[in-house]
Amino acid sequence: MATPLTADRLLKALRDEGLEVHEYRDWRTHNRNSKGPWGPVNGVMIHHTVTRGTDSSVELCYEGHASLPGPLCHGVIDKSGAVHLVGNGRANHAGLGDGDVLRAVVGESALPADNEADTDGNRHFYGFECINLGDGEDPWPEAQKLAIEKVSAAICRAHGWTQRSVIGHLEWQPGKIDPRGFTMDSMRGRIAKRLGAKPDGPAPEPPASYEPFPGADFFRNGRESKIITAMGKRLVAEGCGRYEEGPGPEWTEADRTSYAAWQRKLGYSGDDADGIPGKTSWDKLRVPNV
Ligand SMILES: [Zn+2]
Repeated sequence: MATPLTADRLLKALRDEGLEVHEYRDWRTHNRNSKGPWGPVNGVMIHHTVTRGTDSSVELCYEGHASLPGPLCHGVIDKSGAVHLVGNGRANHAGLGDGDVLRAVVGESALPADNEADTDGNRHFYGFECINLGDGEDPWPEAQKLAIEKVSAAICRAHGWTQRSVIGHLEWQPGKIDPRGFTMDSMRGRIAKRLGAKPDGPAPEPPASYEPFPGADFFRNGRESKIITAMGKRLVAEGCGRYEEGPGPEWTEADRTSYAAWQRKLGYSGDDADGIPGKTSWDKLRVPNV
C-alpha cells in the first residue's frame, strides 16, 4: 500500500531504470480523479492495446473513446521499448476485478484465480498498455519486453514492492486475455532478477547542443538529411508526430503536417502554422545535433 508517485518521481524512476520516456501532451494533469479515488496504490498492471502504430495508439490511450474516456493507462510501451506517458492519476484501464487478487497483491502472496469482478482496480493499479494486436501472432520484440520489465521494476523499486506486485489484466478481471504472447510468470521472473540488481542508470542525457536552424529553404521536397530524421523524432516526442512510417531523412508531407502540429502546439495558426519550420519554433523544438 502506498501513496501514488508524483509525476516527477514516476518520470525519474523510469529514466533511472534506463528507459526512453516521452511525455505526451499534458499527461501530468490528465486523469479521471474527478470520477473516483486514486490510491492507495498496490501494484502495476500490464495490458495489450489491440492496436498497431505508435502515434495512433498513444493518442487513443490519451483520449480514450466515447464509451471509455482517457486516459486508458499511465503509459504506453511501444514496440521499440520507448514509454509514452499519457496519464497521471486515476486511469480507465483495470475496471472491476477480483478483490481476492487485490488482497494477494497487497500481501505479495500467490495469486488466486480471478473469478469475481467486485473491486475497483483503477484506484489501485498503475496501468501500462503495450502496443500489440493481441491475436497471438503479433510479435513481442525483446526491446518491448525489456521495457515492460524495466517499467515494472522501476515502480516496484520506488515503492519497495517485489515482482509479485505486477500482474496482467488477465489475472485481474474475469474474461480478459491481455497481455497475450508471453506469460506473466515469466515476466515476473525477469522483474525479480532485475530487482536483485542495481538499476541501469539514467538513459543518456539530452545533448547540450542543438541543431541550428538550417533556414526555411532547407525544407523542400527532395531534401534528404539526418537533420530531418532528428527533427521528426523530436516532433514524435512532443506528441506532434503525424507519421504513418518514419520519421526518416527525406522531407515529406508527413514532416510538414507533423511540424504544423508543433506550430499549433506553440500557439501559431493560419500561415504561421503551415508546417515549414521557422527559427523560433525550430529553436523551441531543440533538435539534437546530428
Ligand atoms: Zn487490458
